[in-house]
Amino acid sequence: MADRPEPLQSFDHSGLTPGSTAIFLDFDGTLADIVEHPDAVSVPLPTREVLARLERSTQGALAIVTGRPIQEIDRFLAPLSLPVAGVHGLERRGAGGQMSAKSVDAATFTTLGDKLGAFTAAHPGTMVETKSGSLALHYRQRPDLGLACAAAVHEAVDGLQGLHILHGKMVIEVKSGQATKADAVAAFMDEAPFKGRVPLFAGDDVTDEDAFREVARASGISIKIGAGDTAAVYRSEDTDAFRMWLSRLADSFETHSLSA
Ligand SMILES: [Mg+2]
Repeated sequence: MADRPEPLQSFDHSGLTPGSTAIFLDFDGTLADIVEHPDAVSVPLPTREVLARLERSTQGALAIVTGRPIQEIDRFLAPLSLPVAGVHGLERRGAGGQMSAKSVDAATFTTLGDKLGAFTAAHPGTMVETKSGSLALHYRQRPDLGLACAAAVHEAVDGLQGLHILHGKMVIEVKSGQATKADAVAAFMDEAPFKGRVPLFAGDDVTDEDAFREVARASGISIKIGAGDTAAVYRSEDTDAFRMWLSRLADSFETHSLSA
């Protein structure tokens, strides 16, 4: 693990070309600012325009890799409809629009949802979000309850099989152990138009670390947004700085495309 990722500003992206780069981006905390309620996020219009330009210049080698379901990403990025790996790779839509999903034990998550529902009912300001194959306990409105939430999740998961607990920013997620963001990146990299390109992955949270390591194996570029220990090679200070950098990458790719 790199102790000190290099500042992203020091990375000279002029060596990257739109035809040889595959771009993978986390959503929350990377493209969208973290806000109090997960439904209230938005991606600034200029950033959606940058994504559309990158999609064009890379000929579609741009994917979102997120903990959210695919349909939420479509809603936040509309009218863009990009390749997306949702729910940490449990569901995936490839560049051709083809869908794939890993099977999950729905009954396990129903049990878990019931247990944590009792906790959130007793602790206002916390909320459970259920997705297919994953569940999230949010406490953005009650940071003081972080430890109580962690204890509740560990207690609820006790005795249930095949689950992983992930501690994120003001959220604790429980997911089926059958997929990670690294699996999602690897699956995209096996398909056109990603195949054979250099992967670039940017993310802000613990679930992105698997993908940073996957990208390192492929001699790619990993970018951590914000503070915290990371395996990534580069660090961007915050979402604003990263969105600015992405905009300059789009400019650079268009220059390449024109001169190609
Ligand atoms: Mg994130």
